[in-house]
Amino acid sequence: MTHISVDGCLFCQIVAHQAPVNVIRETAWTVAFTDIAPVAPTHVLVVTKDHHNNLEALVGQDPGLLGTLMAEVTVVADDQGLGEDGYRVVINTGIDGGQTVEHVHAHIIGGRPMTWPPG
Ligand code: AMP
Ligand code: ZN
Repeated sequence: MTHISVDGCLFCQIVAHQAPVNVIRETAWTVAFTDIAPVAPTHVLVVTKDHHNNLEALVGQDPGLLGTLMAEVTVVADDQGLGEDGYRVVINTGIDGGQTVEHVHAHIIGGRPMTWPPG
């Protein structure tokens, strides 16, 4: 299957297996891999194989894919043993959201209690 891809996008390269990451799970629509700079004992990113810049773009262009992405988040979190104690799901969107990679992705963060509010 071909996917919407953007030249020079790091996460598109990861989707294409052209960048070295620890892939945890892959489906027809998503790839889950370990974050290179973990902020908790478990820190996994789940990306859509199709490139969408951010949450706004994803919902604008392919809203059903958001449901697929979030369902996959729960599968990966359960696989990681986080289902019982829980975990945090974060989608940073845009500059004020703290997004640093412009390819929509969900963070799964767990393995320790989280605090609120976030920074
Ligand atoms: P965000 O700031 O929400 O856009 O999240 C981007 C995330 O990608 C950060 O948590 C980074 O640590 C992570 N990241 C950046 N480069 C890589 C990489 N090569 N492999 C895995 N994770 C990465
Ligand atoms: Zn991309």
